[in-house]
Amino acid sequence: MSFAKVSFEDSLEKNVVATGKCVGCGTCVVVCPFSCLEYVKGKPKLVEECKVCGICARACPRYEWTWSKAENFVFGRERNNEEKFGIYRKLLIARAQDEEILKVCQDGGIATALVAFALEKGLIDGAVLSGKSREKPFYPVPKLATTREEVLECAGTKYSYSPNVLALAEALKQKKTSLAFVGTPCQIQSVRKMQMAGLKKYVAPLKFLIGLMCSESFTYEGLMEKHLKQTLGINLDEIEKMNIKGKMLVTTRSEVKAVPLKEIKQYVRSSCKLCDDFSSELADISLGGLGLSDWTFVIVRTEKGEELFEAARNAGVLETRPLEKDEFALNLLVKLSDKKRKRKAE
Ligand SMILES: Cc1cc2nc3c(=O)[nH]c(=O)nc-3n(C[C@H](O)[C@H](O)[C@H](O)COP(=O)(O)OP(=O)(O)OC[C@H]3O[C@@H](n4cnc5c(N)ncnc54)[C@H](O)[C@@H]3O)c2cc1C
Ligand code: SF4
Ligand code: SF4
Ligand code: SF4
Repeated sequence: MSFAKVSFEDSLEKNVVATGKCVGCGTCVVVCPFSCLEYVKGKPKLVEECKVCGICARACPRYEWTWSKAENFVFGRERNNEEKFGIYRKLLIARAQDEEILKVCQDGGIATALVAFALEKGLIDGAVLSGKSREKPFYPVPKLATTREEVLECAGTKYSYSPNVLALAEALKQKKTSLAFVGTPCQIQSVRKMQMAGLKKYVAPLKFLIGLMCSESFTYEGLMEKHLKQTLGINLDEIEKMNIKGKMLVTTRSEVKAVPLKEIKQYVRSSCKLCDDFSSELADISLGGLGLSDWTFVIVRTEKGEELFEAARNAGVLETRPLEKDEFALNLLVKLSDKKRKRKAE
């Protein structure tokens, strides 16, 4: 297939980075065959003379992106007007059965349970996830996990941006052949864009794409250091869990502090305001909390996703409950998906 050989400066720098559309996914950095780009302060930076191969532009989810093309690629058709949160096969509410996972997970532990199950059954030999920095509490770090212990260490949401695609480079270095990928909607789009561009070297090992629901992510400096630490006096080392259920709930060793979302809106990353995908509409399986307590809302979208989910359910790794009891969560999913699409259109 022929494509435009356009330089980084004329494509991504000018149209994505300079315009504030860059989400900082790191995909361009990973795919540059000449290692011209480095990931600096959440953005790509040209550190060698660009060889004008055009590959980074083909892989970037914020450059020449069209939903119809992406949906046709993943599902063989475009969504219809009723499919408000994208194309799917099944909706479920689910929870992991493993007590160890339930202790560390965000909602129902389905992301961790599915990845741990796939690893245990040999369906994958690694997973691209988001771990936690050892130095900075709740600072997310892209992580290639190859053991159950490492998968469990990555459980739980970090509300700052984690460029998980960068850990794909590590997986390729280690010659992994079958991977699960967990990430935010923008990262699932990165992987789909690489697939559509035919960048086989990077995408061939990716077997399962597990997408998270995501309204926004926050700058670490703003949310954690400025607001929680300086303004509210929370000792970041004492935080055990952070979750958003109408408010941001910060669980420390001694209390649960409820922080109104309007207080922290100012720390939302600016590129998130241009994002129109709430529920990882192109993932194999999408997962979110949607106001549920200790259960995960699951959208099974593709055949691959269904095979993995059903295999885990049949093995007793997770339990499900009927959706009917949680209609509010479905309504919230429609509302938040709609809100994000409208926000971008504005
Ligand atoms: C930035 C962000 C915003 C979110 N906003 C919403 C929301 O508005 N509404 C909603 O319903 N759900 C939201 N979620 C999803 C929700 O927090 C849970 O991730 C989801 O319900 C799955 O829960 P679980 O218990 O199955 O996951 P777990 O089993 O706890 O696994 C969590 C997985 O998330 C990955 N992860 C953690 N932090 C990040 C990160 N920063 N970037 C990429 N991957 C990460 C880990 O690698 C882990 O595999 C958000 C998630 C993130 C990361
Ligand atoms: S991928 Fe190609 S166009 Fe992009 S920075 Fe590297 S050499 Fe330049
Ligand atoms: S690929 Fe990702 S990091 Fe690179 S310019 Fe595009 S959005 Fe930014
Ligand atoms: S709001 Fe969009 S751009 Fe921001 S982290 Fe979530 S998926 Fe990515």
